Amino acid sequence: MSLTPAPKLLKPFETSIYCATFATQKKSHTKPSTMSLITVGTMAFDAIETPFGKVDKIIGGSATYVAYAACNFIQPVQQVSIVGYDFPEEEMEELRSRGVETDGVEKVADKKSFFWSGKYHIDMNTRDTLVTDLNVLEDFNPIIPESYQGAEFLMLGNLMPKLQLSVINQMRVRPKLIVMDTMNFWMDIALEELKEVIKKVDVLLVNDGEARQLSGEVSLVKAARSIMMMGPKYLIIKKGEHGALLFHEENVFFAPALPLEEVYDPTGAGDTFAGGFIGYLAKTKDISFENMKTAIIVGSAMASFCVEKFGPDRMKEITKEDIDGRLAEFVQLVNFDIALV
Ligand code: AMP
Repeated sequence: MSLTPAPKLLKPFETSIYCATFATQKKSHTKPSTMSLITVGTMAFDAIETPFGKVDKIIGGSATYVAYAACNFIQPVQQVSIVGYDFPEEEMEELRSRGVETDGVEKVADKKSFFWSGKYHIDMNTRDTLVTDLNVLEDFNPIIPESYQGAEFLMLGNLMPKLQLSVINQMRVRPKLIVMDTMNFWMDIALEELKEVIKKVDVLLVNDGEARQLSGEVSLVKAARSIMMMGPKYLIIKKGEHGALLFHEENVFFAPALPLEEVYDPTGAGDTFAGGFIGYLAKTKDISFENMKTAIIVGSAMASFCVEKFGPDRMKEITKEDIDGRLAEFVQLVNFDIALV
């Protein structure tokens, strides 16, 4: 027999089985919506080393990846960031051609763009940060343009927590949904400020190591419970090639990652996941837990493209058909029949 969608209320932290739910949804996600989304984060240069190669200077940044993913579902994507004199105008043009507004991207004439360098371990799931040069980020004071006011969705990409907070405080009407991403770097150097922002958001995204660091718990279930006590009603724990978990109250839902033959560069996968997640929610205008289940599948599908090439290159190539095809692969991956014993 086929498994039916999981009941709404599960026993504490029982995993739901979503394949039937997802497989029957035929919503078209390919026509960008006009509901606006603000994305905040870094636009950067990265130097990356993976077991498959090395690049010294490539476009990166949390907001760059979020925007390249989200614009497939919603336009405009209203970008808030800062770049230096060295950031290529062609990249801005590329983003604008995809419905990304850059009025909120400040350009500093006498400073370099944010620079990050990382080296991946052989498993490609873990990495060491080698360099974080804040450059323009040091004096960044994000200003939300008047034309961005009223946006219903806010994606706080990985950035200094005090800047994420400043953006929330500038919104005259609180967005319907605030999603926040962060990383261990900020937990190490700005924990108290980070906790202030966490209090104010609806969804927090972290990876498994960060969830453990933030909560002090080894068990992810206990970590999730403890982090949700800090404020967010929803928590997503990303586990790299092992998928992602979505927690809400006593419910937990699991989305796998697509097993890929080649993973060249995982940089930006988390941000791309976030862009797909919030882009889909903004497009469907539905922020229920049920719809978030679909949204984390969409996020996982977008992330699966990102890792196929170095930097955001692959995100620039994909079409609506590619996204639909990949979503169908996710359905196949988890769709099964079972005879109950
Ligand atoms: P991800 O692989 O999803 O964690 O994102 C990697 C991207 O985040 C890279 O392109 C970096 O430029 C950017 N990044 C790295 N460290 C930071 C940081 N501390 N704050 C903001 N963005 C960062």
